[in-house]
Amino acid sequence: MQTSHFIGTRGDTSSPVSFSQAILNPNAAFGGLFAPQSLPKLSQKEIQALASLSYKELAHKIFSYLNLDIQANLLDSALSLYDFFDDKQNPAPLYQTKPNLWIQKLYCGPTRAFKDMALQPFGKIFSGLLEHSSKDYLILVATSGDTGPATLESFANKEHIRVLCLYPQGKTSDVQRLQMTTKQAKNIKVLGIKGDFDDAQNALKNLLKDSDFKEKLQAKNIALSAANSVNFGRIAFQILYHIDAALKLYQTTKKPIQIIIPSGNFGNALGAFYAKLMGFPIQKIWIASNCNNVLTQLINQGIYDISNKTLQATLSPAMDILKSSNVERMLFIYFGEKRTKTLMNELEESQKYCLNKEELAQIQSTFGATSCDDEECLKILKSFAQEGFIIDPHTACGIKAYEKISADTPCVLCSTAEWTKFAPTLAKALGLGNLSDKEALDTLSKTYKIPIPKQILSLFDKPEHCQIIAKEAIKSTILEWL
Ligand SMILES: *Cc1c(COP(=O)(O)O)cnc(C)c1O
Repeated sequence: MQTSHFIGTRGDTSSPVSFSQAILNPNAAFGGLFAPQSLPKLSQKEIQALASLSYKELAHKIFSYLNLDIQANLLDSALSLYDFFDDKQNPAPLYQTKPNLWIQKLYCGPTRAFKDMALQPFGKIFSGLLEHSSKDYLILVATSGDTGPATLESFANKEHIRVLCLYPQGKTSDVQRLQMTTKQAKNIKVLGIKGDFDDAQNALKNLLKDSDFKEKLQAKNIALSAANSVNFGRIAFQILYHIDAALKLYQTTKKPIQIIIPSGNFGNALGAFYAKLMGFPIQKIWIASNCNNVLTQLINQGIYDISNKTLQATLSPAMDILKSSNVERMLFIYFGEKRTKTLMNELEESQKYCLNKEELAQIQSTFGATSCDDEECLKILKSFAQEGFIIDPHTACGIKAYEKISADTPCVLCSTAEWTKFAPTLAKALGLGNLSDKEALDTLSKTYKIPIPKQILSLFDKPEHCQIIAKEAIKSTILEWL
């Protein structure tokens, strides 16, 4: 059987690629992203047959419905990384907190944030595809906190791959910094930049365009790639846990679920959307944002407008994003490549685009959205703690959405990070004062009798390996390292 084709969201369908090609070279023509040409729609009977499977069996079935060109044994070894999650049978467990609310823990992996759900297996797939490659890949990551640690965990000691990670020195939490700087492997290098996240991100974008840099890499037989959230290899693994939740709750409640997703780059939400399009019992998808509320405005008013916005630093930093990359794939699904190209060009030229009435209605038939400011976030963290649930600030923004929905069907809230990554924010919410990460972890753990996982605790005993450099020195430092 033919494997699935991936085409560019902004057109140029003359050259579709396979899933594995889309993984290695994630940028499509005209600046677009790769997306599946079509999605399978499963029958009720086919869906029923999946309900009793284990997570790994389910993953195999879904990959084969999607017809992705990954060999079963490579997929097996990628999925075996879930064996190191808290519960190997159940990498993304659900627990109920209210009559109609289940929280899905997407942070049971090594870095305690949802990025591991995809990056753990993805690293294995990526390096597996390079097994017989004659060249090496350099993967560049700029991070504001969660992607860096998850990418380093994913690629540490993998053959044919080197990872260079840039983070803004002093602008991440202690836990996030330590997750990067204490990681030791021959093929990774972590650079702290004197500057902010935008400086790190811009430096990375400039390197990806820098022909002198690329020539120098080529001379060393090294190709350049990115493992950022637009890589479809990551999206594929983000479909699975939504299906898992929908199937489990449908069995007990006989109702389709609503999914609430703390969102930044829209990657997690896109996974849920694909699951719905495939026919799984998902009713609505709720996008939860912080005060960087571009997605709220898009879904509620049909306007994507960053012309008058500047990025705000919030208590939920993984959602501090104005250009939400994966929205493009949603536009592509609804409106096709021509319209997507027009809208994305408008965004590039005038920092804004508007959907028409019919288009907005289409989006609203599946998506809803809310935003949550820092003050509301702190209140929610506190009231949940008083009920005995310690959640993180991103998840708290999702609670705001839940309260607005007043649901009569089961809601699944994707909990995207463990509280241990944002302990000082929790301490602040609970009136414990301004504490360091370590102090906040210790105090909260004692007060609420909740354990700190060993992955977090051990960070504070390890030596740090990191070079702090000026942003002008990034290129030369990388070339020296290689
Ligand atoms: C990355 C991240 C998000 C946003 O996920 P997207 O797929 O970019 O929408 C939300 N919360 C946390 C904790 C994250 O690390």
